[in-house]
Amino acid sequence: DKVLVIKDLHVKLAEEDKEIIRGLDLELEKGKVHAIMGPNGSGKSTLSYTLAGHPNYEVTEGDILFEGESILELEPDERAQRGIFLAFQYPMAIPGVTMANFLRSAVNAVRQARGEAPMPVPEFRKKLNEKMAMLKMDRSFASRYINDGFSGGEKKRAEILQMAMLEPKLAIMDETDSGLDIDALRIVADGVNTLKTKDMTVLLITHYQRILNYIKPDVVHVLVDGRIVTSGGPELALELEDKGYDWVRQEFAAAV
Ligand code: ADP
Ligand code: MG
Ligand code: MG
Repeated sequence: DKVLVIKDLHVKLAEEDKEIIRGLDLELEKGKVHAIMGPNGSGKSTLSYTLAGHPNYEVTEGDILFEGESILELEPDERAQRGIFLAFQYPMAIPGVTMANFLRSAVNAVRQARGEAPMPVPEFRKKLNEKMAMLKMDRSFASRYINDGFSGGEKKRAEILQMAMLEPKLAIMDETDSGLDIDALRIVADGVNTLKTKDMTVLLITHYQRILNYIKPDVVHVLVDGRIVTSGGPELALELEDKGYDWVRQEFAAAV
């Protein structure tokens, strides 16, 4: 059962002619953890923004099917409503908004888009408490103002909690190349491992093999110069770590 199918995708920056994604094919199996690894500048973030429907990125060719339907014409909020979640790479500070309030608007935005009434406050509280307990998060975190001095780990905790509350069908996590410290890595990994269900597919995009020591991917794809050049099992990540991206470029020169 394929939750996401990308066919011969070509993407360029809206205001430039440079093509960044150049004929990318990818299929994600429902309920599995897929990792995409690739060197800096290979188009990893471009792919995640394109999946989320970011207006700066223009699809010039190909298609993206989510649960069998093209999402190319859908606005970002419509994609979110269908169950596509992109963890924010650099969350902004929102003055005077607590985590709980932020999460309530996020949950209700999705419900509103589905034509559902806002979640009653007691139900929201209960769900929030349950999810925080499940993720072993301190209750006080819900009262914190968003990103008001959040550490790297707390930013990741906020991201994971948002994912827990929204219960997406496809969670896309684009890990920054600058690297997370080990605590932040563990928060992400424990969170994903806890939230993983047969109904949630995870697309974990990363430059480093490191995080894959904590989240075991079912499938690993290698992205080079805007294309997936090879896919394999978890051992592919180790091979990459060992041999480096130059090896990939040589080995799969024909594909690149
Ligand atoms: P990765 O996440 O794999 O490091 P990106 O998707 O960020 O790669 O970038 C791929 C290429 O596209 C790079 O050459 C980058 O400079 C360029 N690029 C991506 N987004 C922008 C942007 N908003 N403005 C200018 N160049 C961009
Ligand atoms: Mg093509
Ligand atoms: Mg990136």
